[in-house]
Amino acid sequence: MKEEVQLLIDLQELDQHIISGRKKQDKLREEQSDLTVKTDKLSALIAQLDAEIATIEDERGEVNQALLREQDNVEKAESRLPEIKTQKEYLAILKEVDVAKKQTKDLQEILQGRDEALNTLKEDRDEKQQELDALKSTCDSRCNEIGDLLNEIDESLVSEDSKRAGLIEKVPTTIRKRYELLLKRRNGTALVEARRGTCTGCNMHLPPQFFNSMLKKQSIDSCPHCNRLLFIMPEGE
Ligand SMILES: [Zn+2]
Repeated sequence: MKEEVQLLIDLQELDQHIISGRKKQDKLREEQSDLTVKTDKLSALIAQLDAEIATIEDERGEVNQALLREQDNVEKAESRLPEIKTQKEYLAILKEVDVAKKQTKDLQEILQGRDEALNTLKEDRDEKQQELDALKSTCDSRCNEIGDLLNEIDESLVSEDSKRAGLIEKVPTTIRKRYELLLKRRNGTALVEARRGTCTGCNMHLPPQFFNSMLKKQSIDSCPHCNRLLFIMPEGE
């Protein structure tokens, strides 16, 4: 096989490796950012629930204070009853007690409603917190793994890039330009084998005369259908 052909085969193989390394890195970074986004969303949700809980707890505190005041009013009014002299005074105090008791009952109902709302929110918050804890522990171990993998790929990419630079400079300029262009346009596959009269890039049949002349020349050609660079394996290899 001609040296130039072998050179391109090596280059294409290396490029495929480099491209798949970069794709792996992209996927890993995406996974990493997905995990971060999920964690951030859950944390924000928990903060929001905490704020709602705090507001309701404040309200609950105020209602409770009002309730204590009304209960105090009832007690005070009732304690005045033994000293009452007239029927009119007696009725007035009874009315006062009634009003305060009604207020107390209303406030107790409000308080109960607040407590129910608090319980629901707290349950929700605890659930989200558990989810977040689980996610964080997954995140910690997986993010470390991802970091290691990214470094590993980085290291091999550095050596592959320098190996590539060494190969590409040996490729004649015209072929090099076409190769680089095809690499971009054809999704990382610029060079393919012509096998049994077919381009293995686009799977189209090559004109018999074209294929026969390739067999004879044993050099690089272009697929008349997809334009990719074609090489042919010598018989017996
Ligand atoms: Zn083709």
